[in-house]
Amino acid sequence: MSEGGAAMEDAARIGRLVAQAAETSRLLGVDFVPSYRSARAVVVEPRAEPAAAPEAPRVVPSGILEAKPSELTVEMVAAGPTPTPGGKAAAAPAGPRDRGAAQRALDEVRERYEREAPHKNFVTAHTNIVFGEGDPCARLMFVGEAPGAEEDRLGRPFVGRSGQLLDKMIAAMGLKREEVYIANVLKTRPPDNATPTSEEARLCAPYLFEQIRVIAPEVIVTLGLPAVRVLLETTEAMGRLRGTWASFRGVDGRLVPLMPTYHPAFLLRSYTEENRAKVWSDLQKVMTRLGLGKAAG
Ligand code: URA
Repeated sequence: MSEGGAAMEDAARIGRLVAQAAETSRLLGVDFVPSYRSARAVVVEPRAEPAAAPEAPRVVPSGILEAKPSELTVEMVAAGPTPTPGGKAAAAPAGPRDRGAAQRALDEVRERYEREAPHKNFVTAHTNIVFGEGDPCARLMFVGEAPGAEEDRLGRPFVGRSGQLLDKMIAAMGLKREEVYIANVLKTRPPDNATPTSEEARLCAPYLFEQIRVIAPEVIVTLGLPAVRVLLETTEAMGRLRGTWASFRGVDGRLVPLMPTYHPAFLLRSYTEENRAKVWSDLQKVMTRLGLGKAAG
């Protein structure tokens, strides 16, 4: 068989596998995964990977608040641990792997946040602080924008409509919500659910950086523009950022592979096959890196 013929057969085989996985997810009640046609299109369409990308991945030291612009380094890195050929996850990263110790460290960050209350420096519409929740040693961390009404009421991140969609995305990845960690850039609800200003994000960023340091995730998925902007200090548009690996440099100097994708609220506003396929493709890349399921991303 010619090389081209073999490649097409491979693509068809991978397409079938993805379609099967999508069907299984749908049977499990996960309707987030795009349909067969879109899922296959995602797999067979070649996508730019970091090495081939026209621009280097963005690596920003989390000390950005202290650093002068000239001190910020932007460099190309081979991001984080990769799955072994057998599909098993690579070794656990550095950081407190003792859940109790990690939770206590997170509690301390929360106490510091409450004591310092950076949100006192800007207008909020909050009743509760929404610090974040999940496995304090999670391999995968999601970072959203800011709490909405339901999150504010319950003091928990992503529990409203966006949260229900995020839950579906997590389930489609073969994970349970309690196995990941979910945080936001802002810990308090903005009035009228306004997008955080860069100043608000700047004031709250150190606490998010501390959460990342303690959790030491193997991968961060940013949901929407404010999260990717604060972690990568970029002004790039979402359409250019999503789907391409970048790295976040933690306060401890550790590089964390970061995958930007759309915010669930955007998907809800525009729940098209095309957008779902894009997000699913981003999540498949994360699954591949973490050695989850049989994703072909
Ligand atoms: N949107 C977010 O960005 N975060 C939440 O917690 C809820 C909605």
